[in-house]
Parts: sequence; structure tokens; C-alpha cells
Amino acid sequence: MSEWYADVIVDISHEKLDRPFQYRIPERLWGKLETGACVTIPFGNGNKLLKGYVVGIGTVCKYDAGKIKEIRGVEMGGAGAEDKMIALAGWIRKNYGSTMIQALKVVLPARRSVKKLEHRTLQRVMGREEIISLLGESRRKKQAAKERLLQELVNQESIPYEWVTGKLGVSSQTVKSLERTGAVRVISTQTLRNPVRLSDTEEQKKHLSADQRRIVEEIMADFDRGRPDIYLLHGITGSGKTEVYMQLVSEMVDRGRQAIVLIPEIALTYQTLLRFYNRFGDRVSILNSNLSPGEKYDQCERARNGEIDVIIGPRSALFTPFPEIGLIIMDEEHEGSYKSEASPKYHARETAIEAARLHGASVLLGSATPSLESYYRAETGEYKLFTLKERLTGGHLPQVHTVDLRRELKEGNRSIFSRKLQELLADRLSRGEQSILFLNRRGYAGFVSCRACGHVMKCPHCDVSLSEHNEGKGADRGILMCHYCGYHEPKPKNCPKCGSKYISGFKAGTQQIEEKLREMFPGVRTLRMDGDTTRTKDSYERILSAFMGGEADVLIGTQMIVKGHDFPKVTLVGVLAADLSLSVGDYRAGEKTFQLLAQAAGRAGRGTLPGEAVIQTYQPDHYAVVQAAAQNYEGFYKEEIIYREMMGYPPAAHMLAVQIFAKAQERGHTLANDLADISRRYFDNRTERTCADAPQNASERPGQLQIIGPAPASIGRINDIFRFVFYVKCPKYDKLIQIKDLLEEEIQTRQLTNELVQFDFNPMNTM
Ligand code: ADP
Ligand code: ZN
Ligand code: ZN
Repeated sequence: MSEWYADVIVDISHEKLDRPFQYRIPERLWGKLETGACVTIPFGNGNKLLKGYVVGIGTVCKYDAGKIKEIRGVEMGGAGAEDKMIALAGWIRKNYGSTMIQALKVVLPARRSVKKLEHRTLQRVMGREEIISLLGESRRKKQAAKERLLQELVNQESIPYEWVTGKLGVSSQTVKSLERTGAVRVISTQTLRNPVRLSDTEEQKKHLSADQRRIVEEIMADFDRGRPDIYLLHGITGSGKTEVYMQLVSEMVDRGRQAIVLIPEIALTYQTLLRFYNRFGDRVSILNSNLSPGEKYDQCERARNGEIDVIIGPRSALFTPFPEIGLIIMDEEHEGSYKSEASPKYHARETAIEAARLHGASVLLGSATPSLESYYRAETGEYKLFTLKERLTGGHLPQVHTVDLRRELKEGNRSIFSRKLQELLADRLSRGEQSILFLNRRGYAGFVSCRACGHVMKCPHCDVSLSEHNEGKGADRGILMCHYCGYHEPKPKNCPKCGSKYISGFKAGTQQIEEKLREMFPGVRTLRMDGDTTRTKDSYERILSAFMGGEADVLIGTQMIVKGHDFPKVTLVGVLAADLSLSVGDYRAGEKTFQLLAQAAGRAGRGTLPGEAVIQTYQPDHYAVVQAAAQNYEGFYKEEIIYREMMGYPPAAHMLAVQIFAKAQERGHTLANDLADISRRYFDNRTERTCADAPQNASERPGQLQIIGPAPASIGRINDIFRFVFYVKCPKYDKLIQIKDLLEEEIQTRQLTNELVQFDFNPMNTM
């Protein structure tokens, strides 16, 4: 009978120890130890006893069998949740590529010395009238944070403390000063069993519509017969998705299970939180980036101890250590922020599905504009599809006007505002209604197009737009480059299609728009929201609440204004340069454009007044523009999926980006080439060539597998680090994992110190 050995990761806080150490498994533990188990092991010369995690088990001894040490024991207690977390980390490592330590750090919260756990609540002490007068005072004194807090206290008698410092962005000093005036008091759970007094805004349990009920019943029926599944709920904003989520969460809690509700940070509005809070009281908690590590850890402890059933939060809330998850909900599932930008570059959707598999839980994805991936899987039967078509909030879909900017120029209008938009803006200003101007600034810098005919310079091999290369001094100036395959050509002086000299990148920012608007409409009150005006933590919320409060006629901003928030008084939305994002050198450009335009147009007419939207574009006939104007998701999907299938882009195939970072350009270049060659050889060895004399840069190899590049990244150098990338496309994800493993091995044997390699599976953005 052979011996058994375990690979053990010793300490996840030491990057240096990021490799498993092998230990013998004592006979009494045979068959009892699984990957993910937490064990005690003797370590180092002194054989100090340490805790470690088992990351692999086998019968092959990799070291001197005589010298190998033995595992001392298994840690028990609270292990259930932890085991699954470690299994999940292993899955993340395998599927996205990273070290085991990096993966463990994603799933396990940073430990800290836990001081006494307490759950604090802020309670209103003064009466409502007094709070209102304080509110008036802080408004006059322009104490924005205090004002926000008091505003909430007008309707709420108590607020969980982590929301005060989290979503409301109010500092503890501000709370203390209010406490001193006797307006509020902070109460901890030690003194009060149930800190939540439901007040006048109590969330009424809605009588679900027939469509909503059918969804809840079907998901619960699958769950109850032991077949939890993956569901996609396609429903426009206001169609009742959140109500479905809450009912499902409640059903799960009734069955003794826990639920995770993922919401992109930017859409995590106080209103949504309040609805959950009023429905589930102190059994629900939130996680967000404003919480301190200590506060985050507390939430995890509360989950582990069974003090809460529901957690709401962005991507990382997925790793809340609940003992027995029944349901994972992912709202706005198409959002790019669900993909991690740091290694391991995991996608919360796939990871949620794996976590659900480990727990025997259901997964519900919700969106008004589902990702191509999810809709594709719903079409192929991998997910079950539900649709909610009607808006329950009243309000109508806006009337959308599409304006052809080429015609504007031809007819003598050189302004950034089309005549239609000018006319409607004037109308709204005269009636005292609000407008939003949205500058689609994605891909602002990169691409080059003709203002006379709309022609965009594209790569002849990849069907994505070429970017103006601006990083190099001198040599690279005036070069247009494809950042998938490296194709390049000189930047033309005249448009190759119509000959006009108006060929350039688009160069208007929100500030310029604001200036132009003020020139055109003297006295107009504006607010601007973009990367520059939202640097500080609470400026985002401040601008939004100022606009909600009617302090401006027009809100000008980038993508962040079209997400999440509802502006009932807005009756006009203008989209400037709708197609900017169409021309990003990225296969998801069409999808992102459709989502942004559909969301932007949908901002108008949320309230009782009907709304209008103007979409200004150089490509009025592009299907993403046409279908967004018609608010027709299915129509968009049908056209977009043809493009993906034809080009072999996800979800029709899978794509692995191998990203190389290097201090020295030449070495980075060589490494990129070497790694691409290794990948190429792997293919040549294992797969039949479908084409006898396939070209080296095989963007045209028709069969199953393609390697594209390497090429310099779209930003070829950042902080003096050179960046290269190549892509591997394949219908089978497994094959890409094999390539990744092979490359990881190669990287390890090379012991790179001045170069770094990262993997990005099905990337959301080009690098
Ligand atoms: P979504 O999440 O799709 O935007 P919500 O669940 O927030 O939609 O619902 C939109 C509005 O309709 C909310 O104000 C909600 O309270 C209300 N609502 C949802 N379902 C019902 C229902 N069955 N009966 C009455 N009102 C409902
Ligand atoms: Zn032209
Ligand atoms: Zn190309």
C-alpha cells in the first residue's frame, strides 16, 4: 500500500512562501483529508507548529522520503465554509491563472485581531421636526455630509452604522458632533437585541404579478427538488426584478439558507439597500469599498457566526463565508466591474456559478441589457431565461431622435450640438425641466475617423479600429496600429474614402461641452460629473443629490451618469458622439455601445413627464445605434452574435490574453515572442492543421485555434514598464487552461525578475 502526501500552503501573508510544501499524511488521516482542509504542520528548522492549507493530495513523494515531515493534525471548527472557499480559490487559480496565494487572498478576508464584535446602529433621538430644522441649518452652512445624514434621518429612525460611514460617506467625526448635540445616538447590539425599528418607510411585501410569481415558483421548485440551476432574468429597469430578488431571498431564508446579492458598486444605491434592509432587518448587511478592512472582516465574522442571512455588495461580497448558501443573485450582470482587474483576473459570474455548485445553490443573473455571454448561454439552454417586459413604475420609454452628424457638418453646423438637440434644450430650459448631456468618452483618445463621412480606420485582419500610437517619441508618431495583431500603417492626411481633410481623433471633453453650452444658453445652470469632478469619495453622491435637488438645469457627464440613478425630473437626454465607443479597438465595442446608449436613452422620462432622447452619431446605420434607439435588445443580440461567430470572438469561442510587462523593451519583446511560440508549438503538436500552409501570424487560420500577435499594448509603456500582449482563441476553454499551465511552467523555470506575465481569460478590455 502506498503512502499519501499532501501539498500544503503555509502562510498566505508571506509571498515568499508561495509554493506548496509537501508533507506525509499520517495513516490515521488517510481518506479524511481533502483539498482545502486546514492542517497543523511543523515548519522550518525549529519545527514551529503552523497552520496551513492543503492544496493537493497524491501518492508521489517529490522529496527525500526519509526526510519528509508529517502533518500533525487537522483544524476543526468553522471548517465547512472555509473548505469551500479554499476549493473555490483552487478553481480560480486553475481557471484564471495566478499563484495559489493570490487566489487564497481573493477568497479569504484579511485576518486581523478581532476586537469585540459589535453591530452598531445610529438611532434618531430628536423628533422629526427638530431633525428637519437641523437639516435646514446644515444646508445653509453647506455641510454636505451632515446634510445627507440628516436627510436620511428625516424618514428613518435608525440606520445601520456601516451604512452611515459606507454608502452615505459620513465620517465618524460628523456622527460624533451630531451625537453631542443630542440629535442621535449610537447603539451597539450588546445593549439592544434588535436594533432595527422599522419606520414609516417600511417596505411593503408586494403582491407579485403573475410573471414575477412564475419566476419565483420555478426557481424554488428546481431548488426544492434538488436541481438548483442558473437563470437569466432579462427585464428593463422598473420591471420588478428587485422585487423578484427579495422574494427569492426570503424563500431561501425560510429554508435556512443564505443569500448573496451582488450589485455593481456604482449602482449600489441607498434606495436599493433600504428596500432590503426594511424587508430583512438586521439579518442583512452590506459590503462596499468604503468599509475599513476591520469592518469588512466583521461582516465576514457575522456571516460565519450565522448572525446574518443576506449580504449585499459588489464583486468581493461573493466570498462571504456563509455556511450554506442557497442563492447568489447578480444584478446588472453585464457590468464590466464584475471582472477583476488584478491577478487572478476572475469574473464574478463564472466564479459565482462555481461557488453555487459547491454549495448546491441557485444563481440568478439579472439585467436590462444582458451580456452577450449570458444571453448566448440562455439561447443554447445552459441557463434558463426569464423575461419581464413591462415597466411597473409607470413612465414611458422615451421618444428617440437619431441625428446624423455628417449631415450636420454638410449643412454647415460645426457646433458639437446638433440643431435638434439645440432646439430641445432650449425648450426644456424655457419649461424649467432638466436635461442630461452624456459624452460617450470610452475610447476617447484612440481611434481615428473622418468627420465628413464617418469613415473609421480599421484593421484589415481583425475588424477592430486602429489606434493612433502616441507613446513613442518621434518614431511612432503618426502611426495607426491594431492592438490585437500588431498590424500598422501611417496615419493618412486625407480620408481614404471621401478625401476630406477632416480626419482626426475626437477631441471634446465635458469641460468644453460645458463652456459651449454656457455660450449658447447664457445663465444656464450646469453640473459636471466626470473623472475630474469625482476624485473625492463623496463628490459623486454630492453632485447627484445636487442635481436631484434641482440645483442645475443640465448635468453633463461621462458613463458614470447613466448608471444606477433615477432622475425623475429629467425629460431630455442628449448623447454626444454616440459612436465614439463603437470604434474602440475592442471586440466588445458594439456591445458596450449598445448598453451605454440604451441606458442613456432610458434615463429620460422616468417620472410622470414624457421624455425624449437625441443620439448624435456619425454611424446612424450601425446596428448598435439603431437597436439602442429602438430599445430592442433581441434585435441587437441577433446581429452582434453573427459578428462574434464569424470572427471567433467570445462567447462563440474563448480568448486568452497573455500580457507581458517588462522593464526593458527588448527583453519584453523577446519574452512575448517566446511565449507566443510555445503556444503555437502546442497547437501544432496537438491539433490537426486545417489549412496546409497556414500563415505565421495566423489570424486567418480557419480551424479551431488561433494565436494573434504579439503586439505592443495600446498603451505601450506606463511608468517606464513596457507592455506587450498576445491572444489565443479557441472554442474550448480547457485548451486555453492547458496553454496557461504550460506558460506558467515556462515562466517558473525562467525565474523572471524584471518581467511579469499575467493572464486574462475572455478579457473585458484590451490592454
Ligand atoms: P427593477 O429592479 O427591475 O428596476 P423593481 O423591483 O425595483 O424593478 O420594481 C420597480 C418598482 O415597481 C418599484 O417601485 C417596486 O416597488 C414596484 N413593484 C415591483 N413589483 C411590484 C408588484 N408586484 N406590485 C406592485 N409594485 C411593484
Ligand atoms: Zn471621409
Ligand atoms: Zn489586427
